[in-house]
Amino acid sequence: MKELLQKLTAAFGPSGYETNVRELILETIKNDVDEYRVDALGNLITRKGTLKENGKRIMISAHMDEIGLMVTHVDEQGYAYVTNLGGVRPLNCMSNRVIFENGTEGMLCARDLENGKIPALNQYFVDTGASSRENCEVKIGDPCVFAGNFVDMGDRWMSKTMDDRIGCYIAIEALKELKDSPNEIYFVFSVQEEVGLRGAKTAAYSIDPEIGIALDVTMCFDTPGLVERNLKFGAGPCIKAKDGSLVGTPWLNNAIYDAAERAGIPYQIEVLRGAGTDAGAIALSRSGVPSSAISVACRYVHTPSEMVDVNDVNQAIRLLVEFVSHEIK
Ligand SMILES: [Zn+2]
Repeated sequence: MKELLQKLTAAFGPSGYETNVRELILETIKNDVDEYRVDALGNLITRKGTLKENGKRIMISAHMDEIGLMVTHVDEQGYAYVTNLGGVRPLNCMSNRVIFENGTEGMLCARDLENGKIPALNQYFVDTGASSRENCEVKIGDPCVFAGNFVDMGDRWMSKTMDDRIGCYIAIEALKELKDSPNEIYFVFSVQEEVGLRGAKTAAYSIDPEIGIALDVTMCFDTPGLVERNLKFGAGPCIKAKDGSLVGTPWLNNAIYDAAERAGIPYQIEVLRGAGTDAGAIALSRSGVPSSAISVACRYVHTPSEMVDVNDVNQAIRLLVEFVSHEIK
């Protein structure tokens, strides 16, 4: 199990460049699904089960892409300047290493560090060790991601891409465990979530689901200075009441709470002021889809050291299996 997550989190996959992640996932699940296809944007759309009496067509979405940076230009001295692919905060760029798809690694540093102010993203350059534009191993348009290994901390796991390889992992484990269900379940491994929920939009159009569920990370408010909020490690999966992209459909959330209670799984109700998940895009597909999200609390989101609680992850897998295995009303 852990070995799979280790591979998933290590795969290079900024928004729009998810091929490595998709190939790894497809290799892992192709014998466990009834059908699969890759659409024009690169979403991996898989189906498990067929619609039976009282069943529903459900879309479960976990995004394959991770936040990253893209080279805007390389100067004469060989420094590569960058722009963001998704929600990269300038503060989190300082003194971090990045890696490109061709294996080139570099140090992220900013041009102006005066006054202790956080530099804007366009002040940052990647030093790949090149001494000129000509001998620089990267060029305009090349994407890169934060470098950082998977770390097993016992009850907690840390990596640069828990957002959202942990969602992919939960989907994979759930679809492998899933036996009998009246529902027709589409497990989607989506692209380009971090740049605006783009893959889920086209996948939802083609699947035309009756219910949409995103699997993603959410904030964790149990570190010093943030303790006033409820989302924390070890208290179970989080069920989406609201974020910047979605108000979780109340009857659907009630059905998820019921599933959690049936199976004795603790859960938290998630209210975020901003942010969004694939559920926001699914909800607005075609004439509208009742949607929600099952999230895992994650510390240090969008840094190279995103951390999750192992028990929360396992409970999220159990909750998803329990929820989709039964008639949903
Ligand atoms: Zn995410």
